Amino acid sequence: MDPSSPHAARLLPSDLRLIYDKVLAQERVTEREALLLFRHNDLNALGLIANVIRNRKNGNMATYIRNLYVNYSNLCILSCQFCAFSAKKRDPHAFELSIEQIADKVKVGLGQGITEVHMVGGLHPTLPGSWYIELLETLRALSPDLFLKAFTAVEIRHLAERIFKKSVAETLGLLRDAGLGAITGGGAEIFDPEVRDRICRGKETAEEWAEVHEIWHGMGMRSTATMLFGHVETLEQRVDHLRRLRDLQDRTGGFTAFIPFAFVPETTDLAHIPPTTAADELRTLAVSRIYLDNFEHITAYWISFGLPLASLALNYGVDDLHGTIMEEKIFHMAGAKTPIAQSQAAFEKAIREAGRLPVPRDTYYRKLAPVASGSVVSA
Ligand code: SF4
Repeated sequence: MDPSSPHAARLLPSDLRLIYDKVLAQERVTEREALLLFRHNDLNALGLIANVIRNRKNGNMATYIRNLYVNYSNLCILSCQFCAFSAKKRDPHAFELSIEQIADKVKVGLGQGITEVHMVGGLHPTLPGSWYIELLETLRALSPDLFLKAFTAVEIRHLAERIFKKSVAETLGLLRDAGLGAITGGGAEIFDPEVRDRICRGKETAEEWAEVHEIWHGMGMRSTATMLFGHVETLEQRVDHLRRLRDLQDRTGGFTAFIPFAFVPETTDLAHIPPTTAADELRTLAVSRIYLDNFEHITAYWISFGLPLASLALNYGVDDLHGTIMEEKIFHMAGAKTPIAQSQAAFEKAIREAGRLPVPRDTYYRKLAPVASGSVVSA
């Protein structure tokens, strides 16, 4: 059904009609309205409203990217309470890949048709700045078509302040010149300072996270934005997070997409927190689509939600399923039960069964020509 049709409007509960009319008229919803949406239990109505924007911006297309995740090391000077990934040097699960090992993984990925490497790690205490430059230059030299998306804003600040000992702008300039094409959206968690104090004490503030992205966007570059939800935050704090992102996007226009993650508590210090429900995940994706009117794309990260729910979300405002991802550690070390890779064929099937048209994309969400389907990407 066309979510913009008069027939669709008749299916909505009366308390959502005003928001629906605003969305149809391309007017912004307020934070108060976003909160009302978060508290609403008519999920299908939320999906219908979200799909007005989703279809306006992206038609019937649903994208995915052929990519490879690499975690170069989990050594980290911080110990965020929600994180099961990080390690100290003597921990049995600590790891650190050499540039050669990373390059070997990327070569395998290139043979399987990847167009992007997505690379993040902990805040490594000792790797020198030259290591990061050499890493980017080595990967850059493997293929002129390979896009390097790497480092969270937290890693960038760590590199700037403790490793390069230069300003954020100078550090980003060095990394860009070595081949960095985009920075990742990680490290945002929930922006509210009280929440940060409870789940990631000592980590950069919301303002510091935003500053890195703002500087990067000012250099003509793009990045994604994220939110880790479903732990100790309130719905008001989720809305506050979205508000800050919408304001920043108004200023820079540099975010390609919003990617919310559902918290996986299992092996973390916050294991007592129950995992998120499918209803909460779909609702969060739909409300994000409705509220973030200046974001072109909403991605359902299947590693966190599972591919079945992520494909269902294509009718709750989502237009992108993220990537094939040959290897994932951060969510799986926290207890995620999802696989670590998806084939292109699996993506295409999931998207078609949701009634959408599958289209491969690049890092900047530009559509790419399809390649032979069925090339299984596996670890
Ligand atoms: S979330 Fe990032 S910064 Fe925090 S402990 Fe884990 S790896 Fe380190």
